[in-house]
Amino acid sequence: METYKNPQSSVSERVEDLLLRMTIEEKIGQLSQVPAGTENTEEVGCLIKAGRVGSRILAFTAHAGSEKQLIVDITESNEAQRIAVEESRLGIPVINGKDVIHGYRTSFPIPLAQAASFDPQLVEEAASFMALEASAEAVHWTFAPMLDISRDPRWGRIIEGFGEDPYLCSAMASASVRGIQGEDMSKDGKIAACAKHYIGYGAAEGGRDYNSVEISDNTLRNIYLPPFKAAVEAGVSTIMSAFHENGGEPVTASKYLLTDVLKGELGFNGFVISDWDSVKQLLHQSVAANEAEAAEIAFNAGVDMEMASSCYEKHIKELIKAGKIDIERVEDAVRRILTIKFKLGLFEKPYTDINLAKDVMLKPEHLECAKRLASRSMVLLKNNNVLPLSSCGIKIAVIGPMAKERKAMNGSWCLDSNIDRVVTVEEGMRTIASEVEIITSSGALTDNMIYEARKADIIVAVLGESDIRNGEGNCIADILLPPGQTEMIELLKHLGKPIVSVICSGRPLNIERVCQLSDAVLYAWHPGTQGGLAVADILFGHVNPSGKLPVTFLNSIGQVPLYYNHKSNGRPIDDYYNCLSGWNYQDSTGKPLFPFGYGLSYTTFKYDSITLNKEVIKVGDCIEVSANVTNTGSLAGEEVVQCYIRDKVASCSRPVKELKGFKRVFLKPGDSERVSFALGMEELSFYGRDGSFQLEPGKFTVWIGGDCMSELKVEFEVSKSN
Ligand code: BGC
Repeated sequence: METYKNPQSSVSERVEDLLLRMTIEEKIGQLSQVPAGTENTEEVGCLIKAGRVGSRILAFTAHAGSEKQLIVDITESNEAQRIAVEESRLGIPVINGKDVIHGYRTSFPIPLAQAASFDPQLVEEAASFMALEASAEAVHWTFAPMLDISRDPRWGRIIEGFGEDPYLCSAMASASVRGIQGEDMSKDGKIAACAKHYIGYGAAEGGRDYNSVEISDNTLRNIYLPPFKAAVEAGVSTIMSAFHENGGEPVTASKYLLTDVLKGELGFNGFVISDWDSVKQLLHQSVAANEAEAAEIAFNAGVDMEMASSCYEKHIKELIKAGKIDIERVEDAVRRILTIKFKLGLFEKPYTDINLAKDVMLKPEHLECAKRLASRSMVLLKNNNVLPLSSCGIKIAVIGPMAKERKAMNGSWCLDSNIDRVVTVEEGMRTIASEVEIITSSGALTDNMIYEARKADIIVAVLGESDIRNGEGNCIADILLPPGQTEMIELLKHLGKPIVSVICSGRPLNIERVCQLSDAVLYAWHPGTQGGLAVADILFGHVNPSGKLPVTFLNSIGQVPLYYNHKSNGRPIDDYYNCLSGWNYQDSTGKPLFPFGYGLSYTTFKYDSITLNKEVIKVGDCIEVSANVTNTGSLAGEEVVQCYIRDKVASCSRPVKELKGFKRVFLKPGDSERVSFALGMEELSFYGRDGSFQLEPGKFTVWIGGDCMSELKVEFEVSKSN
């Protein structure tokens, strides 16, 4: 048996053996990913047979998240694989990629909501169920997790990431990668992950998708790089190069970013895939005159596989002949791709069991996890003691455009979910409190609805944005609720009944007016299949809310960008949001509507007694900071305890606060717990002016509290090591 076919040989032995047998055309073939749609099956089949396809993307339009996509046909996928394995000369299997972003048949909350759970373990569990369901339909590789830090709520793809903070996003990055890939990708139910969109895509100017960004190296490394570093450390198999350009250089053309930083400094040894057509787009970005030049630039920059466009397939051979691409670079790329194929076990198990899907989709444990994650991710923003609702003898009007919505609850990037399995808020409330009289109305914003609301004791207004108002390419210029919704609350207010607003959305909207008019506000995001049940569990107090904001909420669009970890400025001194009265906008406040990390509970928590285990540590040592957290209310609840630091004097200006730890703590009424955080090299270092990650001796402030505005702090010093 040839070494590459022998599962007893090591992955690297198999890769090297196979490489030696491959022709130049077969090597170049591995670098191509082709869209697999119904219309081109035959054509793709011929290419696969000739060894000219490394991967199929199970999608046929560039806007996969916003348009109806291909339903995977397992028989068709197995047939494509059969051609690869049995009819191509060397029998190299193809790897099927697909966008499986926040669920497959079971839809979990959108990633931004998942971040609000501050619960990486649960995010890991959800990711593993998502991978299991996807793997049953011939998906070997998902283009997730999306790790773009975003500070701009106008940008539609803010839904797909884990928010504005590098530390939180990094924790979620590792959790997702672990969940998707597991320890060993060849195990059943595991698939390859792809961290995207490397790097800085979320900083699109004006919040307009695909737009240029202008990110300094310092900000790039300290803010945008950490989640990718975390994904690499968690063993992510692949990374996607983003569409946009930064400071004159498209990322897909950047040797510095892809080869020097990613493959060099971070030691990423998986493969880089372009985004859809992003190699060919180098022409539109005016850095390549033709497709051959685009192939040369992207490939030499470090993009190993080309998605959708075919510049590599058409031109790499001639570029090698012309001495513009080295054969070593081709072999490096092929080696990376084959390694992942071997690690996935595709050579041993190329086919998908056609009967598997019926047993793994929407299993009770998947639904249970989806519900738990949804309720943990919802953030209670206001409560004038109207929540939790009593379920005895009251009439509740459940109205508003999202009350009976399924698709919007599902979210914008869950292409394969069963929309009809999504539980609406109205259904959830009827299920959880069957004894309560629920009044509703079929129209979203009708006068009939107001008439119905008149009969109720309490109004639950379910507001928000549809799933197509966010996601890829779906940006908005203002961040208010869609037209009519705030006016609806204004009208309802005249009825003089308590109003509970539930907001389903993929971005942090400016809901200032709704907050003023409502007695309680629950931010439910796009919560997925079990969303309605999770909302009802919280409203009726079966679950005490514990989600916290992963992104700053703004009062006006003019505040963009406003984020908690801004740099220390010269003026005004030491004011957190730079908004002493004289420094506010003349026509608005400089303060956020709700700060990062914020979220209420039905109970209250008190923080005190912050201490350190030492006051001075040496570079390389760890310090431990602790505080008491007490449940001072009358209900049991869970609190996300957060730890922030500030490097007081450094060679570069540093953020006024940076999240460096968080823990979920469950406390019964009256109970207290001492919560500790260890801060060492990783937490206290930053990328300096020379680009190196280092800890500078000096003083630090550390806070422990329930959000980024916490004032409970203590100081310590890091002294030189000798
Ligand atoms: C998106 C990616 C996605 C790819 C494939 C692109 O338009 O930017 O996030 O993975 O399409 O569908």
